[in-house]
Amino acid sequence: MPIVVQKYGGSSVADAEKLGKVARRVKQKRDAGYQVVVVVSAMGDTTDDLLSLAKSVSQDPPRRELDMLLTCGERISMALLSMALQEQGVPAISFTGSQSGIITNDAHAQARIVEVRPYRIQDELAHGKVVIVAGYQGVSYKKEVTTLGRGGSDTTAVALAAALDAEACEIYSDVDGVFSADPRVVPDARKLESLSYDEMQELASAGAKVLNAQAVEWAKARGITILARTAHGQGTGTSVQELAVPTDSRVKGVTADAEMAVLVAHASVPLQELLEFLDARAVRGRTLAHDGLPGAPGRTFLAVPLADIHGPEALQRELATRFGAGVDWQDGWGTVTCVGVGLNADWVPLRKALSAAEALSARVHAVSTSPLQVTLLVDKAHLKTLTARLHRELLGS
Ligand code: ADP
Ligand code: ASP
Ligand code: MG
Repeated sequence: MPIVVQKYGGSSVADAEKLGKVARRVKQKRDAGYQVVVVVSAMGDTTDDLLSLAKSVSQDPPRRELDMLLTCGERISMALLSMALQEQGVPAISFTGSQSGIITNDAHAQARIVEVRPYRIQDELAHGKVVIVAGYQGVSYKKEVTTLGRGGSDTTAVALAAALDAEACEIYSDVDGVFSADPRVVPDARKLESLSYDEMQELASAGAKVLNAQAVEWAKARGITILARTAHGQGTGTSVQELAVPTDSRVKGVTADAEMAVLVAHASVPLQELLEFLDARAVRGRTLAHDGLPGAPGRTFLAVPLADIHGPEALQRELATRFGAGVDWQDGWGTVTCVGVGLNADWVPLRKALSAAEALSARVHAVSTSPLQVTLLVDKAHLKTLTARLHRELLGS
């Protein structure tokens, strides 16, 4: 029997009624002749609530303990979904990430999956059960419980689909797939029928939460097609897969990222020392630009995603102790990014982006381009209006 992996996000399992709906959807798939593995996220805002609870106890929570706490969220939803399925007469069993054989490195709060040993899942599927897996979590070789970073349940789903040689990997959320912009910000955004792995990875790392960037990286490496769909209706969704590279240049989507800080390091701070400092604290960067021309004052711009930092105030204090005024922590800036193909074939996309910013009197602090993206760094206050305007100008309304 073919295997399908379905992942349901937090909003799709937010309460008992929604869990019941998910159970009915899973039952339909099983009745259609599939072996079903279901990956669940924590219910509604549970992860955010647990994080606030941790912050009320400690400004810079020890990451090991944070992982012990945050993994409880997915445990709740996996157990409840298993109960809901059994209530509907479907044999089911729930597993934690560790029981599912999700082996990660030991980078607490932002671990990467290194191996999947899905033996218990395969055994239970062979016994005719639906297997529910707690997303977002794994276990290290030292048997420590880890989490995969915010949005990490998508990665669990893709990694399991690869390990189980599943026929499909379906990611269900509250939108019918990937749109040309966040439909909450740009109501005219259009649903995209298909996207290449590279385009999706750019969108995800530039702030489009609908799929997780690490999940897309896994899917690309293992050749897994992801189908992003709505949990609430019958939409056709978006498929993310390997696509032939188009010959013309085109913009596919516009996205913004507010969950970041920019470190601006002045000439007095040697780049090597700064990077060593960040690596020692597992602080990752989204983009880095360094101007080190001989004789010129070398400056470094580093965009740091904040979602998995969990103690930004403590990091800021440590930076100040180590580098004094040599490093500015700028958390008032965010990015707007156009994603597509061949975007540096000419300067038209960048020129349009700059004019849109000018029309809104949004000061552009920095610019970066590659064949796949054009990004402007602006004040966070302008992110939504600039995204909407750029969408209108580059993709029509
Ligand atoms: P889940 O909890 O199911 O994992 P997420 O909240 O992580 O769902 O992702 C879905 C959300 O992503 C949508 O509600 C939407 O607001 C947001 N989003 C951001 N950019 C896009 C985009 N380009 N297309 C679709 N949704 C987007
Ligand atoms: N519950 C986790 C989060 O909120 C993981 C996930 O939803 O994918 O980030
Ligand atoms: Mg998500």
